[in-house]
Amino acid sequence: MAGNFYRVQCPDCENEQVVFEKASATVACAVCGTTLARPTGGKADLEGEVVETVEAR
Ligand SMILES: [Zn+2]
Repeated sequence: MAGNFYRVQCPDCENEQVVFEKASATVACAVCGTTLARPTGGKADLEGEVVETVEAR
């Protein structure tokens, strides 16, 4: 199950959270609950701004 992780900044509260690029469930911000990523069957649709790519190791 290869895939990258992205550090995504929440558009509402600026919390930064790591999201798997192939998230299979909706990812919500841990602080305010805003949706950060939606599953699409392939790469997740990221709602926030990607601050950094965290390479899979
Ligand atoms: Zn937030």
